Amino acid sequence: MVNKPSPKERSPEKKKEIFVKLGNKIGLENVSDKELDKMAYSKDYWPITVRWVLEGKTPIFPDFIVWPQNTKEISDVIKIANSNKIPIVPFGEGSGVVGGAIPVNGGIVVDMKRMTNIAINDENLTVTAQTGINLTDLERELNRKGYTMGHHPQSMYCSALGGNLSTRAAGHFSTKYGKMDDMVISLEAVLPTGEIIRSKNVPKSSTGPSIERLLLGAEGILGIITEATLKIWPYPEERALSSYAFENLKDGLESIRKILRRGVYPAVVRLYDKEETSRHFYQTPDAKKKCMLILAMEGDKDLVALEKKVSDSVCKDKGMDCGEGPVNHWFETRFNVKEASDYAPRDIVFDTIEVSVTWDKSLNLYNSMIAAMKKVNGVLLSTGHASHFYPQGVCFYFTFGGAPVKGATPEEFHKEVWGAAMRACIDSGGSISHHHGIGLMRADWLKEELGGGFEALKKIKKSLDPENIMNPGKMGL
Ligand SMILES: Cc1cc2nc3c(=O)[nH]c(=O)nc-3n(C[C@H](O)[C@H](O)[C@H](O)COP(=O)(O)OP(=O)(O)OC[C@H]3O[C@@H](n4cnc5c(N)ncnc54)[C@H](O)[C@@H]3O)c2cc1C
Repeated sequence: MVNKPSPKERSPEKKKEIFVKLGNKIGLENVSDKELDKMAYSKDYWPITVRWVLEGKTPIFPDFIVWPQNTKEISDVIKIANSNKIPIVPFGEGSGVVGGAIPVNGGIVVDMKRMTNIAINDENLTVTAQTGINLTDLERELNRKGYTMGHHPQSMYCSALGGNLSTRAAGHFSTKYGKMDDMVISLEAVLPTGEIIRSKNVPKSSTGPSIERLLLGAEGILGIITEATLKIWPYPEERALSSYAFENLKDGLESIRKILRRGVYPAVVRLYDKEETSRHFYQTPDAKKKCMLILAMEGDKDLVALEKKVSDSVCKDKGMDCGEGPVNHWFETRFNVKEASDYAPRDIVFDTIEVSVTWDKSLNLYNSMIAAMKKVNGVLLSTGHASHFYPQGVCFYFTFGGAPVKGATPEEFHKEVWGAAMRACIDSGGSISHHHGIGLMRADWLKEELGGGFEALKKIKKSLDPENIMNPGKMGL
């Protein structure tokens, strides 16, 4: 937890003093302590806080919201926070699903949305962008100029570059283009005591540990990422689509493993279990009671033709060819996320959990996690798909839904299902998060996940952030 401020430190007089100091540095019009703004920045997309709002519960308010325009202003804000021992919470667009951006100890929310400059370097195939930029705005600008970053998370309309770097997010096209952290060439960040660091724009160096990379996935606890230089690609010349229905998950997984072993990385690779296949692909009769695999290969025309040829030849061994239709259907519906908001007001608890595991443990982990969630009283739905792949393993993405029984609250029920899933994941040799991060939701399991690394993380945090002002109370620290 944050070093508790004395009543004097957070008294109305003190708050007024901090407000004026912030205004002097970044302009009074860029600082707010209005109730409406505090409410807007009191939550992210963690289902628990979404429910709090539906139930009319008072969320946890920050003291101030600031909208800085550049790295120097962020440094000034952080220095003010340090000298006044008041928390700082970086805020992208609040689409995080684990509570990372919730200001649990009040303080200053730093909304990055005014920091949106970008510059493309064609020769180096890089883009340098301030981290407040919305991901769709960034990708559209790249597309207009003939490039893609290949990072398309389902939340790309409602998330910012900085949030994605800070959670090490993964997009739909990740098997070819990599995850957010794979795309980073260099970073600029402001540390918790206000110093600005920037790594060199080079493809690789051997100059000691990459200090700035500590900020990737740090969810704002070690500083604020202000700018990043990222890999980009020429806009794909060609896209080819394939889909196959498999008798079972094992055959589908095995086919994907073989495709990757041959050095072919389709951009989109998604394999659904039988329940999810019947939910998402009911219009494909050949997929009834089967597991649907969809593939999209893209890039240079000749290479795409070869990738499709290899993928098809592997899949035909055990799968039934379902053509392009199911992939087109997925492209049309991939941003549809209304299920969760439809069910929440009816007291149905609905959430997703993503984990990663090596191939040799993959099927066992899938079966264990599905069974563990199903076992919880009140669970009506426990399904999964695999959506990000490596030659070494896979990311499973589970969905559960249900209603609390025996007087349990929706929040207690939600935590119980998560507890069962996390236990099964750890016991099956998986990692508790592939791309959503830790925040508040997974905080209780991070110590077990990291082992000795957790103490090291605590020491790093303490040494970089002696006043514990950066996003305190997160990641179980
Ligand atoms: C409908 C929906 C679909 C989603 N689909 C995906 C998906 O496909 N793939 C995926 O990976 N995730 C997905 N997510 C989760 C979420 O969008 C990601 O975690 C995303 O990276 C969060 O971005 P944001 O800008 O909204 O960050 P926020 O929620 O604002 O912040 C996330 C965390 O990062 C910190 N932070 C934000 N900006 C900075 C910064 N500049 N410097 C340091 N720390 C910072 C915050 O303090 C917080 O801890 C989805 C969420 C929703 C609601």
